[in-house]
Amino acid sequence: MEGDLWDLLAQHHRIVVTTNIGWSVPGKINNMGAGIALQAKLRIPKLPRWYGLTCAWLREQTPVLAYPKDPRIILFPVKPLLDPDNPEISWNQLASFELIEQGLHQLRALPGQIALSTPGAGNGKLPEAEVAELVRRVLGADPNPRRFVLVKWHQPDRQRVPVRCEVHGEIGSFDAPVEARGLLLRTICRQCGLPAIAHAAAAL
Ligand SMILES: [Zn+2]
Repeated sequence: MEGDLWDLLAQHHRIVVTTNIGWSVPGKINNMGAGIALQAKLRIPKLPRWYGLTCAWLREQTPVLAYPKDPRIILFPVKPLLDPDNPEISWNQLASFELIEQGLHQLRALPGQIALSTPGAGNGKLPEAEVAELVRRVLGADPNPRRFVLVKWHQPDRQRVPVRCEVHGEIGSFDAPVEARGLLLRTICRQCGLPAIAHAAAAL
């Protein structure tokens, strides 16, 4: 099917958030800087810290995991720990078919209705058709394959973010990815010199 993965949360599905096995030093925060991981970070600000700590603990063995505070969110690593001495850079590689295949088997062990987009085919840069075939092969072997919903990956649309001055109202706008919902930028109104604010629609 096509659509927004997150819409399926409201329809009693668990959502697969694709990640890398990585963490910042210091801080142990997973960067979650793009794609579905970024969308998840914007919704759940504490997720990157929890996930970074988890990756730092489980390292190469980090499996597919549900977020304890909201088990509807399933973290699914598609990029392995690239360099144990430099765990911050794991995001900067292609996704791994091997890790994805392993993760799909782990995903089958989790109960419930689960929605995913082809793991590793967005920012992981793997060919979507091959990943979709792998997904169908592994999840199709589940006793109840229909509990999995494969949502077609699509690059997020862009949104127009208005810039407003308290005195002059809307004084301009710029384009931002839809993922940047909640984004707040401060600037100065050229007409009156007072602060102006650009605020992307905060509702998620
Ligand atoms: Zn103004």
